[in-house]
Amino acid sequence: IGMIQSIDPELGSAMNEELHRQRQNIELIASENIVSPGVMAAMGSVLTNKYAEGLPGKRYYGGCEFVDKVERIAIERACELFGAKYANVQPHSGAQANLAVYFALLDLGDTVMGMDLSQGGHLSHGSPVNQSGKNYHFVSYGVNEDGFIDYAELEKAVKKHRPKLIVAGASAYPRAIDFEKMAEIAHGYGAYLMVDMAHIAGLVAGGQHQNPMPYADVVTTTTHKTLRGPRGGLILTNNAVLAKRINSAVFPGTQGGPLEHVIASKAVCFGEALQPEFKEYARKIVENAKAMAAQLQARGVKLVSGGTDNHLLLVDLTDEECTGKDLEARLDSVHITANKNTVPGEKRSPFITSGVRLGTPAATTRGMGVEEMKVIADCIADCIYHYDEKKDEISARVLALTEKFPLYE
Ligand code: PLP
Repeated sequence: IGMIQSIDPELGSAMNEELHRQRQNIELIASENIVSPGVMAAMGSVLTNKYAEGLPGKRYYGGCEFVDKVERIAIERACELFGAKYANVQPHSGAQANLAVYFALLDLGDTVMGMDLSQGGHLSHGSPVNQSGKNYHFVSYGVNEDGFIDYAELEKAVKKHRPKLIVAGASAYPRAIDFEKMAEIAHGYGAYLMVDMAHIAGLVAGGQHQNPMPYADVVTTTTHKTLRGPRGGLILTNNAVLAKRINSAVFPGTQGGPLEHVIASKAVCFGEALQPEFKEYARKIVENAKAMAAQLQARGVKLVSGGTDNHLLLVDLTDEECTGKDLEARLDSVHITANKNTVPGEKRSPFITSGVRLGTPAATTRGMGVEEMKVIADCIADCIYHYDEKKDEISARVLALTEKFPLYE
């Protein structure tokens, strides 16, 4: 940033402000993390100069012998990390990865099942405002009254709608997903199973969540959430025929030249996730989420599904005067960053909402543990119940914590 500031002060000062925000605030956005210097350095490298349309060894440009090496390292590490036979490391993002898989497996208008956005799914799982929902006939499934996926109901819906593809995975589901069960349902009715493990990829890599690879036909993910890599996507499969179709669907189907600097950064991330320390990191993410959940509940805060099995929790404000939008703003004002979120059976508008999603991956990277989670949970509960009287005091408690756990020193 120092270098940018000297050559482009206007931009450099905006970037510096963002660094300051990240240092000062506790990051609880469940889809965010804090990358290592190695992950960051690879992105800011000379690889950004290179066009490399195609795949390693089969490029449409000369001079690709070294980026071929880089991309092969990324592919090999991704396969080793998740136990996959084939990997495409080129998707620019999670949404791009999903789009490419749909392009590879489906014809326009095919029936697909995905989790409803308002119940925890992602836009790219069939929302009517997304290409997925416009190009294919998505039928959505959701959670039961207790906030859990109801596999029996899902099977009934599959039997009725006979989808060609079922999409498993979510953006705001605090519980473990039974991929083996979902594969049994999908394959029992002749459907493909695609698992979008974007949120939990780091937990899968670290052995804290069932790995979908043995069950799913295709697995997609982002690399920047619990996996703690650069912003980007990844597609994995064990099926040679699908692997070929997926490669063509990524390029030339839906993308142009791959971002080799980001692919190098993905390789750094996969290398880090293959280290024994990453298992411990994944364990702590879940331990922290459970500790935060327990303390929130001790303070009378309701959580969707009554707790968490993974890295995230969903605060349920349905019965509170304080809305999701209110709580997001209150947390912002005390230097805690989180996002409002709909809850299952949402009664308020998606711009207001009755929920706030909280996640522990970034705070865990920063070194915070169970004791800090309790402090943070108390700050959140105080923001819900005693904001007006206590906001300055809450803010001071948060700033003391972030000072104790410095970032990018
Ligand atoms: N899939 C899931 C489950 C997600 O939660 C997200 C992002 O939040 C995506 C896909 C999309 O990823 P990206 O923002 O990289 O396109």
